[in-house]
Amino acid sequence: MKKNLFVTLLITALFSMNLMAQPVKKHGNLSVKGTQLIDQNGKITVLNGVSYGWHNWWPRFYNKESVKWLATDWKCSVVRAAMGVEPKGGYIDSPQSSKEKIEAVIQGAIASDIYVLIDWHSHSIKLPEAKAFFAEMATKYGKNPHIIYELFNEPVKDSWQQVKEYSVELIKTIRAIDPDNIILVGSPHWDQDINLVADDPIQGFSNIMYTCHFYAATHGQSLRDRCDYALKKGIPIFISESAGMEASGNGPINYSEWQKWIDWCSANNISLISWSISDKNETCAMVKPSASSLGNWKDEDMKESGIKTRELLRKQAEKDK
Ligand code: MG
Repeated sequence: MKKNLFVTLLITALFSMNLMAQPVKKHGNLSVKGTQLIDQNGKITVLNGVSYGWHNWWPRFYNKESVKWLATDWKCSVVRAAMGVEPKGGYIDSPQSSKEKIEAVIQGAIASDIYVLIDWHSHSIKLPEAKAFFAEMATKYGKNPHIIYELFNEPVKDSWQQVKEYSVELIKTIRAIDPDNIILVGSPHWDQDINLVADDPIQGFSNIMYTCHFYAATHGQSLRDRCDYALKKGIPIFISESAGMEASGNGPINYSEWQKWIDWCSANNISLISWSISDKNETCAMVKPSASSLGNWKDEDMKESGIKTRELLRKQAEKDK
């Protein structure tokens, strides 16, 4: 009996340790060295997780309980709070309620000891508004190692020169308050033209990375070639949004191409975030309308892309043990 009790206690202890993976406790303050993300011990670090859908359309998932579920059950080491900027109910329209949603996820990530991207989820330049927002976020949260700033989800029509000027203004704003947390800079044309970034990167600031987004049924080897070109030129890449289907977010998942991206990220130690936690009737939505807003999702509440993403995240978390 005693032996059985000991074994039971040991298993319980191991199980709860597993549930309580603490990525930020382990990796702490992040920095960028060459093309790599480095942790507090100087070791190369890779973050893996999911993006919430646009906060203005899927506000119900923006709470600390769902973050906890994603951290413990899905084994995310990072989540992305995607603050819609332009649409109705977005930041321009409704700054206070927008910040409340984003901050619920930020505070949830801090409580669950995972990293969080504060994503200005916009498709055009809104410099004064972005400056005010990031200054406030840096003041409030910049001392926490958990925080990563993402300045511009996906530029669409703006040239790299315009995106670069916008980003430099925001980097200066953030750095005046927060000297060190990672800042992610968008690349033009839905985060596809990272080759243009590579030819003319931002100079004079530390802990900057650049985002590339892929949707595997649309973007294949030619985009990986651009990424390889950028890496060769010393450009640190962070994949802050990605998925297995077409760029529309819909259509069938291309599993073989998605796997090629996953293998490419793994070979190059590139952090990877999948889109998205929402319950829309499209392929990229990871859960069904039956899914609780607070997590605790069973398999029958999850869609194909959610089940596959959770499987991937659990595997990646094993590697980080
Ligand atoms: Mg800081």
